[in-house]
Amino acid sequence: MTDTPKATPQFASMNGKVVPFADAVMHVTTPAAAYGAAVFEGIRVYAHPDSGRQYVLKLTEHCDRLRRSMRLMRFDQDYATTDLVAWTLDAIRANRLAGDLYIRQLAFIDGQGAMGATGPVSLAITVVQRTRTEAAVNGLSCGVSSWTRIADNASPARIKAVANYHNGRLAVMEARRNGFDAAIMLTAQGKVAEAPGACLFIVRDGVPVTSSVNSDILESITRAAVLELYREMAGQPGQERTIDRTELYLAEEAFLCGTGQEVAPVLAFDKLAVGDGRIGPITSRLRDRYVAVARGLTEDHAGWRTAVA
Ligand code: PMP
Repeated sequence: MTDTPKATPQFASMNGKVVPFADAVMHVTTPAAAYGAAVFEGIRVYAHPDSGRQYVLKLTEHCDRLRRSMRLMRFDQDYATTDLVAWTLDAIRANRLAGDLYIRQLAFIDGQGAMGATGPVSLAITVVQRTRTEAAVNGLSCGVSSWTRIADNASPARIKAVANYHNGRLAVMEARRNGFDAAIMLTAQGKVAEAPGACLFIVRDGVPVTSSVNSDILESITRAAVLELYREMAGQPGQERTIDRTELYLAEEAFLCGTGQEVAPVLAFDKLAVGDGRIGPITSRLRDRYVAVARGLTEDHAGWRTAVA
């Protein structure tokens, strides 16, 4: 399995209209290109294994978070969530791509403004075919990054801003150089924040623990979903709190979670095995449950899924 897009998409959505894929472009002089004045969402579409029927996972939640990111960036336009949902479905339907898909919504400052420009705002929605990487399925080896996670008062991780991924890329490239599958980033205070594209859970004393929303993380939709599923499964809540670096090395289990990563087991931190070095039971149950709900293999949590057809 690879992360490489398969068929070339034929269409995209630009400012609410379906256009040829090749026309979904921005000029090099936009504040989006010049200053990173852009926010985005990554959203997954799951195909049911028997019917092939496709469902968008947590579409409304992603549209709402895009709007929150736009507000924090003081974009001088807002969209109705219902419009964002409709335009996203238009883009998916126009392409008629089968299987699992990945959608990107990008709201950006268009035009030729200066650094402080807050408009005009444009919105592009693109769709590609996407599966998952082998490491995300079989287990990841993670390294604690020497790069510090961006602080809320510098480049807030709470905003899903394109510019934040500069910090993430430095950590990703370093992790690859050092032979890891993924990076774990610490806050300026040395506490565990998140991975460059996913949040982190560790299991301690049998309970999943994830960094609090005040730990310079993106307020992840998957993280919230996992906490909800765990509460249902275990009849008790998981923990959201500050996590020390040394807790990584003592964790009984660990996994990354995010739209792209889904629930991806972590088997080692800094080459020290997590637990016995195999995928743990809580991770395994949460992953199965998450995928079942996402793919529509179960009737429950129907509200998480928006049917494409
Ligand atoms: N943190 C970062 C930095 C991310 O890019 C992502 C992926 N969107 C996540 C966490 C996970 O967020 P979500 O579950 O909403 O996809």
